[in-house]
Amino acid sequence: MIEELYQRYINSAGVSTDTRNITPNSIYFALKGASFNGNTFAQEALAKGACYAVIDDPAYHIADKTLLVDDVLTTLQQLATYHRRKLKTLVIGITGSNGKTTTKELIKSVLSQQLNIVATQGNLNNNIGVPLTLLTIKPETDIAIVEMGANHPGEIAFLCSIAEPDYGYITSIGKAHLEGFGSFEGVIKTKGELYDYLKTHHKTIIANADNPITEALLENYNNVYSFGVGEGVNVSAQCLSTQPVKIQFADSSLQTTTEGFPANIEGFTDTPTVATSHLVGSYNFTNIAASVAFGRYFKLSTKAIQKGIESYIPQNNRSQLLQWGSNTVLLDAYNANPSSMTAAIDNLLSMNSFPNKVLILGDMFELGDYATQEHQSIVDKLKEHQWAGVYLIGKNFKQTKAPYPQYETFEEFREVFKKLSFQDSLILIKGSRGMALERLIANS
Ligand code: ATP
Ligand code: MG
Repeated sequence: MIEELYQRYINSAGVSTDTRNITPNSIYFALKGASFNGNTFAQEALAKGACYAVIDDPAYHIADKTLLVDDVLTTLQQLATYHRRKLKTLVIGITGSNGKTTTKELIKSVLSQQLNIVATQGNLNNNIGVPLTLLTIKPETDIAIVEMGANHPGEIAFLCSIAEPDYGYITSIGKAHLEGFGSFEGVIKTKGELYDYLKTHHKTIIANADNPITEALLENYNNVYSFGVGEGVNVSAQCLSTQPVKIQFADSSLQTTTEGFPANIEGFTDTPTVATSHLVGSYNFTNIAASVAFGRYFKLSTKAIQKGIESYIPQNNRSQLLQWGSNTVLLDAYNANPSSMTAAIDNLLSMNSFPNKVLILGDMFELGDYATQEHQSIVDKLKEHQWAGVYLIGKNFKQTKAPYPQYETFEEFREVFKKLSFQDSLILIKGSRGMALERLIANS
């Protein structure tokens, strides 16, 4: 069945899953969601130009036009694995609590300088996004970079079974999605599933030698290509500044050759190179250093790596430094969890050239039973320092014991915010996606 579907797939224009957005001559996969059943749209998809539809409800069967399977999502995943195996493209898997998308985009920007790369679009990192990413691999693709997200144990192992990564990197392990994982140990174990897969299949792990949590997962595994600030790593990287992040890197493994990727001798040197990024924050130093390591591993020239880093502009409210009147805004409203919130506060503390620091913080979601405790820890951390202003927004922050103004809803704070006036301040705006705090400074 998969072989037959595969033949149709390679003669099609790809895969569509949404009838509002059908690519002509594509195969429509009738996925089900919480509030919709893709089967009911199969006919519409065909009318809009899809050449074939994969369905799992016989009521919508149309002879010669639909393929009836047990489960559409499983079939999509099987097709993706089949395709990935046929083309034998190299696959990089990226997971972690924070920094997956940023790191994936940075690696893509670097490797694309000299190689043909496909990567996860945006944040499509789940059991639908991973197969869709694999299905964008073309015969000419050198490497596919696949972001893998999880909020329950076993999910990364499952995504690995679909993507079959040849290389992997865990960006960070922190307190995110505690509700689904049950505990921090649950988070470590789940992220570690990427390394478990790579170890079992004797694949290469790219690792941050300065992260004790991910280092502990490597145990005695030897097939590791490392980066870090200290000695004994394959790629040494130093952080010269964090606003914006400036990185200095040098290679300490000129002798290694990566199979299929001959050393690019020209411009390849152990003299340190500096790249100035458009990213801010010490955590982004790690993300950038990881992209240097991948660039080095695949034998890109120093110039290409530098260009890849310098040309990457962050999108979607992720750690952007903006000018707002006389103020500087660190807009990090894309998401938040205890680890990324702590990293953002530490980063703010390190920005010494700003005497007036203001924090506008929104709730961190998906913490389950840990919600109260984790919000209180953030407040307790804030209390250890002096701030020009702190504003806490959301049901969880409202429940903390805090010496700062607390607002239960975004709307409540917005009214107050309109009347506040800031001057020459550095303002951190950070909260979970659902808080959408970027609305505060939109159109202003
Ligand atoms: P998601 O779970 O939404 O896919 P993600 O892992 O893809 O998130 P990014 O979107 O790259 O992460 O970054 C989200 C936020 O996490 C950043 O804006 C920043 O606050 C924080 N962050 C980024 N990189 C790191 C890191 N290496 N360590 C800790 N926090 C980080
Ligand atoms: Mg992401």
